[in-house]
Amino acid sequence: MPVEPTLVIPSSLLPADGRFGSGPSKVRASQVAALAAAGDPAAPVLGTSHRQPQVKDLVRRVRQGLATLFDLPDGYEVALGNGGSTAFWDVATACLVRRRAQHAVFGEFGGKFAAATRRAPFLEPSEVREAAPGTVALLEAVDGVDTYATVQNETSTGAMAPTRQVPDARAGGALLLVDATSGAGALPVDVRDTDVYYFGPQKVFGADGGLWLAVCSPAAVERAAEVEAGAEAAGRWVPEFLSLTTALASSRADQTLNTPAVATLVLLAEQVEWLLAQGGLAWSSARCAESAGALYGWAEARDWASPFVADPGARSTVVGTIDLDPGIDAPAVVGVLRAHGVLDVFPYRKLGRNQLRVGLFPAVDPDDVRALTACVDHVVEHL
Ligand SMILES: *Cc1c(COP(=O)(O)O)cnc(C)c1O
Repeated sequence: MPVEPTLVIPSSLLPADGRFGSGPSKVRASQVAALAAAGDPAAPVLGTSHRQPQVKDLVRRVRQGLATLFDLPDGYEVALGNGGSTAFWDVATACLVRRRAQHAVFGEFGGKFAAATRRAPFLEPSEVREAAPGTVALLEAVDGVDTYATVQNETSTGAMAPTRQVPDARAGGALLLVDATSGAGALPVDVRDTDVYYFGPQKVFGADGGLWLAVCSPAAVERAAEVEAGAEAAGRWVPEFLSLTTALASSRADQTLNTPAVATLVLLAEQVEWLLAQGGLAWSSARCAESAGALYGWAEARDWASPFVADPGARSTVVGTIDLDPGIDAPAVVGVLRAHGVLDVFPYRKLGRNQLRVGLFPAVDPDDVRALTACVDHVVEHL
C-alpha cells in the first residue's frame, strides 16, 4: 500500500519514468502497444495456439534478432525454454557438466548455480572460487574441471566480470558458461569467448520473466549430446524438461518443448528489434555506460554516498549500487522515492547494506537517472 509522503519531492525533479528496478525492469510503451496489437481480434497472436505460424514466427523473430544482436559466429545457436535462468542452472547441471564444475561466486546468483551442481549426486563436488560481495572472483584452470561457470553481471551486488576467462581450458575441451541474465544485450561481449551465454527476458529485454535463452557454442551442443546419450549408463537422470538437446531441437523448429508465455515472447521480440534499430550492442552498452557514469559520478561527488564496488573497472554499467552514509536511513529514502513513483531502488535483500541499487538498463533514459540523483539529493537534504 502506498504511504502518504511526509516529504515532498518537487515534481520538476521527478524522472519521466520512475522504474529503476533490477528485474523485472522497465517495459517501454511501444512494447505494451505491441502486446495490445497482438491481442487485436483482427489479427490475434495472444490466445492462439503456440504450434501455429503466428507464435512460431515470434520465436523466429526472437532467435534471429538475438543472432544478429550477438553477431553469432558459425555454428553458434540460440536455444530457449521455460523456467527462467534458474531452470537453466538445472539444465546445465543435468546436460553440460561431465564430472566436475568450477564456479566463480561473488554474489547470490553465482552461488545459486554452484549450489545446483553441488546437489547433483552424479557429479563430483564442485570447486568454488569465492570473493566478497562488491568484488569479483575469477575462474582458474584446474585439471579435472570440465565446466567453468561465472556471472557477467552479478545483479545482487552490482559487480561485473570479464567474459573472456580460462581460454586455455576451453582450448583443451572445457566449457565456459556465463550467466548473463542481467548483462546480455547491454554489456559488450564476444560470444566466441563463451560456450553458453544465457539470460532471461526480464532484465535488459524489459519483458516478463519465465523463459531462459542460451547462446550455445558447437562445443556446448556436442557436450549436451554426449552427456545425454551416456546418461542412463552413467546412472544420471535427465528429465525431458531439462534436456538441452530437446530444447535445441524445439528451438530449431521455432518452438518450445511446452507452452511458453506468448505475451513474454511479444515483449521480448519487440525489445530485441528495438535494440537492433537503435544500433545494437554498441548503442545499448554506450547508453548504459552513460547512465552508470552519471550515477557513480554523482555518488563520488557526495560525501554521504559512494559506489559499493571499489574497483571502478568492476562497477556494473547495468546495475549500480550506491552505499549511503550510516547516518542516512536508506530504506526511508527508498520509501519516499516510492511514494513519488520512483520505484525499486532498494538493495538486494540478502546483501543487507544501507544502499540504493539502480537498474540502468537500455530502456532507462540517462536523463531519468540524472533526475533520480536529484531526487535523492532532495530527499537526503530534507529527511
Ligand atoms: C535475475 C537473475 C537470475 C534469475 O533469473 P530467473 O529468471 O528469475 O530465474 C539469475 N542470474 C542473474 C545474474 C540474475 O540477475
